[in-house]
Amino acid sequence: MSNSVNAFQNQTWKEAREALSRGVVVILPVGSTEAHGPHLPLATDVIISEEMSLRAAQKLNGRGVETLALPAIAYSVTDFSADFPGTISIRRETAAALIHDVCASLYQQGARLIAIANSHLEPEHVASINKAIQTVKQETGRAVAFPDKRRRRWAEKLTEEFRRGDCHAGSYETSLVMAARPELVREDVRQSLDRVPISIAEKIKEGFGSFSQAGGTEAYFGDPRAASREEGEAMFEALSVMIVTAVLEALAL
Ligand SMILES: [Zn+2]
Repeated sequence: MSNSVNAFQNQTWKEAREALSRGVVVILPVGSTEAHGPHLPLATDVIISEEMSLRAAQKLNGRGVETLALPAIAYSVTDFSADFPGTISIRRETAAALIHDVCASLYQQGARLIAIANSHLEPEHVASINKAIQTVKQETGRAVAFPDKRRRRWAEKLTEEFRRGDCHAGSYETSLVMAARPELVREDVRQSLDRVPISIAEKIKEGFGSFSQAGGTEAYFGDPRAASREEGEAMFEALSVMIVTAVLEALAL
């Protein structure tokens, strides 16, 4: 993993006190523990969010905006993949409360800005993040930056497969894990997978309630075989720039 010196959890409490008193920006990686095809680990979304957070922190520090990446939230609302072993879904209220409590604690301690780096795109999960942000705003008057990569502004910087919506454990996510943690990709399995040209984003809109119902019987959509480390590097660049841009805009810099 890149730049663990920028990881909040690697500071001592005295270093954290100093950073917070200077008004450090913190990035909260949000992922899930969920089935990601037969070739990627359950932690796929956590790995992606952590890596994009660390890369964004490095970029921001390079621009003179002191930034640390927080420990990731690894449990989310993951109802679509709940029928696959290993997936751990939590209630929407629990998810919202967890994110809220982490943000409230950090604002109490002096954080300059909190930004959320999210990689799990299930609508109910995104709703839990927005609910948490809303509650933080009501209670503290403070905003949390949350660039939603499904929005056209950010999605147009990502791959065609991502925009089509067949983006669960397909080429897009597989490439990202190949770039961040290549040893965790089951390469022989990946090479054997046929493309599943189904837009899970569309299926969700049509009312399908699970991956298997929507045709993703192995818990992936898209084309894992087309993935590459190069694509992963390019996507981490786009994702970290997305976080950097959202932070700079929130700080009006
Ligand atoms: Zn994912």
